[in-house]
Amino acid sequence: MGRRLAAPQIGDPVRIIHLNARDRAFFMFNPKIVNKGDEQFDVWDFCFSAKAAFVAKVSRYCSISVEYYDERGQHTVERFDDDWSELIQHEVDHLNGILFVDRVSHPQSIKMIEHL
Ligand SMILES: [Zn+2]
Repeated sequence: MGRRLAAPQIGDPVRIIHLNARDRAFFMFNPKIVNKGDEQFDVWDFCFSAKAAFVAKVSRYCSISVEYYDERGQHTVERFDDDWSELIQHEVDHLNGILFVDRVSHPQSIKMIEHL
């Protein structure tokens, strides 16, 4: 789903992510996940930045609330669900130096893309 990028992926050590999916494209400045729902789901994740030849099954929260500043400097707290939630957790991880492979719990949770 869509395109996303965290500034550290292009060598900029600042806490900015950009999301572009479906009918919405926006920046999040200094995003913080301030609330996580109880439920989690498994997703086959991938990262363009890692130029990975594989996907890995990771667990993500179904629902999160994120505190961030938008491109006008407006302080915002917004709830995101499902694929948006997964997308943002992946990007916030980048800001914290965490890659999707760091969240793999079992070797069986990795699949080569050519085998998909
Ligand atoms: Zn990534």
